[in-house]
Amino acid sequence: MDLLNTLVDKGLRRETPTRGEALAVLATSDDDLLDVVAAAGKVRRHWFGRRVKLNYLVNLKSGLCPEDCSYCSQRLGSKADILKYTWLKPGDASRAAAAGLAGGAKRVCLVASGRGPTDRDVDRVSETIRAIKDENEGVEVCACLGLLSDGQAERLRAAGADAYNHNLNTSESTYGEITTTHTYADRVDTVNKAHAAGLSACSGLIAGMGESDEDLVDVVYALRALDPDSVPVNFLIPVEGTPLAKEWNLTPQRCLRILAMVRFVCPDIEVRIAGGREVHLRTMQPLALHLANSIFLGDYLTTEGQAGKADLEMIADAGFEVEGTDQVTLPEHRRAGGSEGGCGSHEGAGCGSHGGGGCGAAEEAGRGPHAGAGCGSHEGGGVCGTAAQVAPAASAAPAEPRTDLVALRHRGAGTDLAPNA
Ligand code: SF4
Repeated sequence: MDLLNTLVDKGLRRETPTRGEALAVLATSDDDLLDVVAAAGKVRRHWFGRRVKLNYLVNLKSGLCPEDCSYCSQRLGSKADILKYTWLKPGDASRAAAAGLAGGAKRVCLVASGRGPTDRDVDRVSETIRAIKDENEGVEVCACLGLLSDGQAERLRAAGADAYNHNLNTSESTYGEITTTHTYADRVDTVNKAHAAGLSACSGLIAGMGESDEDLVDVVYALRALDPDSVPVNFLIPVEGTPLAKEWNLTPQRCLRILAMVRFVCPDIEVRIAGGREVHLRTMQPLALHLANSIFLGDYLTTEGQAGKADLEMIADAGFEVEGTDQVTLPEHRRAGGSEGGCGSHEGAGCGSHGGGGCGAAEEAGRGPHAGAGCGSHEGGGVCGTAAQVAPAASAAPAEPRTDLVALRHRGAGTDLAPNA
């Protein structure tokens, strides 16, 4: 297929696909799905081999957030029966992190609910970072604390943080539909602050909130322009008690197409499957390892993942290997001091012009449907003006709600029970 051959060639050259090509990937039919996975898999293996990076979430502070992100079970007014607790003590956070590291994780993601940290909060987290780093040689620590004020990223960096996560989540044009208490520009600003402080930027998206294909492509191109080192792809977990509880829009096939599109647009960036992996990919999770080179081990912030042991077995059974602390995740040209800029040349054609941020490392996401008409809509519309040599076709039927697969986390950090790692 010309489209897929073109995308593989571009991916190996780190050249940006056109928006039309990205939309065409999302519009492929189920008949072509394995070809799409195989093509994006070539790009993934070229830059990341068969390695899978494992990341482990520690929710330092859970619930009671004043912000209103409609996908989030920790939001203002959430009726979800999640764990609610204030800051974990550094020792407790370090013990929670140790469980994930013992399970094979090489990065610990320290997340806290809230609009953003106070300077006192940064002190607390700095203490936690130091505790984790002192006890675990070679561990990477990523902080995810919401919107940053001037100087906070520098202080986190000085405390030993390697990375900062702040997701864009969705397109600029629809951001106001999912959150009203902060703006897309606020999020972009925080990613830029992290970058400027020398932190590895991690910024991703949430799919399944009722967005159009155009929205998905918009946010992925915006992410590319922001030049993060890692892009977490969340699939909305419609948690009861949140405004998006009824948004069951994803099928395993749709999730695979989204991951393939992200891989083609961001060929040499760490693409991480984040929240919703088990709920939406289900038995198709191993295929997604051919697209993403990174996953979370065990549980998410407020929901449960599959058993950490099952994650490890899946990786081995699919012919992949867990990335060790002695292996470097990113290709050489992207490593510290040698970055040539983002996931490829910013000058590439089709790079979205939108400027390219809150917490939500692997947070549950959603928003009302506003199915985009025409190009790349959920209704299987044709792909306007693209090299759509792969026949677009309506594919899987609308997703059936799988509420049986959504389990709230009631163990691990913030409890006396052993975590899932
Ligand atoms: S995503 Fe973060 S900022 Fe938004 S409601 Fe949830 S915890 Fe608060």
